[in-house]
Amino acid sequence: MRSLVWFRGKDLRITDHEPLTRAIADGDVIPLFVLDPYFFSPERARQLPHRMQFLLESIESLRENIAALGSRLLLVSGKSHEVVPELARRFRVERVLAHRWTEPFGRARDEKVQAALGSIKLVLSEGETLLRPGALRTGQGGVFSVYTPFMRAHRKAYVESPGRKPLRAPARLPALPEDVEADESALPTLASLGLTHNPELLRGGERAARERMKAFFNAPVKSYVETRDRMDLAGGSRLSQDLKFGLVSVREVWTAAGMSLTPGSVPREKFENELIWREFSHHSLWDRPHLLHEPFRADFKDFPWRRDGKSAERDLAWWKEGKTGYPVVDAAARQLLHEGFVHNRARMIAASFLTKHLLIDYKLGEVHYLRYLTDGDWAQNNAGWQWSAGCGCDAQPYFRVFNPVTQGERFDPDGAYVRRWVPELAMMRAKYIHSPWDAPPEDLARAGVTLGKTYPRPIVEHAAARVRFLATAKKHLAST
Ligand SMILES: Cc1cc2nc3c(=O)[nH]c(=O)nc-3n(C[C@H](O)[C@H](O)[C@H](O)COP(=O)(O)OP(=O)(O)OC[C@H]3O[C@@H](n4cnc5c(N)ncnc54)[C@H](O)[C@@H]3O)c2cc1C
Repeated sequence: MRSLVWFRGKDLRITDHEPLTRAIADGDVIPLFVLDPYFFSPERARQLPHRMQFLLESIESLRENIAALGSRLLLVSGKSHEVVPELARRFRVERVLAHRWTEPFGRARDEKVQAALGSIKLVLSEGETLLRPGALRTGQGGVFSVYTPFMRAHRKAYVESPGRKPLRAPARLPALPEDVEADESALPTLASLGLTHNPELLRGGERAARERMKAFFNAPVKSYVETRDRMDLAGGSRLSQDLKFGLVSVREVWTAAGMSLTPGSVPREKFENELIWREFSHHSLWDRPHLLHEPFRADFKDFPWRRDGKSAERDLAWWKEGKTGYPVVDAAARQLLHEGFVHNRARMIAASFLTKHLLIDYKLGEVHYLRYLTDGDWAQNNAGWQWSAGCGCDAQPYFRVFNPVTQGERFDPDGAYVRRWVPELAMMRAKYIHSPWDAPPEDLARAGVTLGKTYPRPIVEHAAARVRFLATAKKHLAST
């Protein structure tokens, strides 16, 4: 049997790649990546500079890995729903193998591709998630809206019957059949897409991801519970972009956690639960595709986010640039622009600040994060923003407003996170680093800080902003 293995951006690996393994077992294999203008036109690429850099490195690494196994990754430009059926017919393949996508536009694309393929079957494997999206239902047969029962159902289903083990990388691939000829394209360079290389980003490619995974499970995972929330410590796995682009599979990451940590231990449960949060966001989007456009809570649909023209635009710009006058919020903004990543706690604080302190629509923050996060993922980012704004599936209650000062004091106690990303405050004493406006003039002078000049004064006052948000939300929710 001859199969077209369609790699498509969320499975850029050769290990634990079910479509590839299935294809090899059955005969001829034609590996393909389509350079779809949906992502690879310069206009689109410029909207995702960090992800594009990481993606190009990852495709290059996949190409090298496939070549080392004795085959060749075909790179073909064009719209996927045209290129794939066209090549499938030209190469006379019996089936097209790929991994399932959760997002509505990925599903729509797959339907289009299947329709155009006619009798050639598009066979989708689960790869993005541990369990097939849509597989879990509540006792009443409904869709889960709350994390904890979802997590329990997930554990029951996956832990009790995890299915297959992660698949090994193949030892070799059959050479491309001789009659396979396509109009191949070169892999675009960053420069050809109008982008410049950012040396601060993590490196793409399966090998780099595997090294990160190994490093994390060798030691830091043991202190995950204590350090994950600390913005000043490297407590997380930093595997989010690797999971996003499928450089390692979530099944492998889950299995690695199981091998390094004792069953039932607190760090193991905690880490697994984060992977289940990931599952929750993908499953939720699968069952409710409208979440990409609307809040989960219908009563938040017409929420009176600020639309006061220039003033809201200016606040949004300050938030994006890291000039709000709240050190931890500014550190998050600058970390994002600089290295395409934001610590999870800092994401929550920054998102809460934008939506609650500034009363700005979560969708504007969501778009900004999606643009600059290397791990920018439609399902997880949307869930994170809706959670923070208080309008999502099992979101933090809308009336809980993070205090950026106390959050900073608790999760960045010596201010190392702020010092790194907001260097103009680097010399402040830890006592005042999260609230420089409280510092005595001699402290500010010693640290070389002039508020309003070298570092902004707060653009809103915390207590007043909190009252404004709560009053607005209460009034709106009472009227719906
Ligand atoms: C406003 C906001 C936006 C977010 N946007 C994204 C996004 O676009 N892409 C993304 O991968 N994560 C997103 N997250 C979730 C989380 O912040 C990141 O997954 C995490 O910071 C990545 O660091 P890590 O790999 O060290 O995570 P670890 O703590 O090591 O967690 C392991 C893995 O679990 C998953 N995970 C962890 N926390 C969450 C969570 N709360 N929700 C869903 N999955 C989780 C990630 O895949 C992560 O790599 C967002 C959170 C918020 C509050």
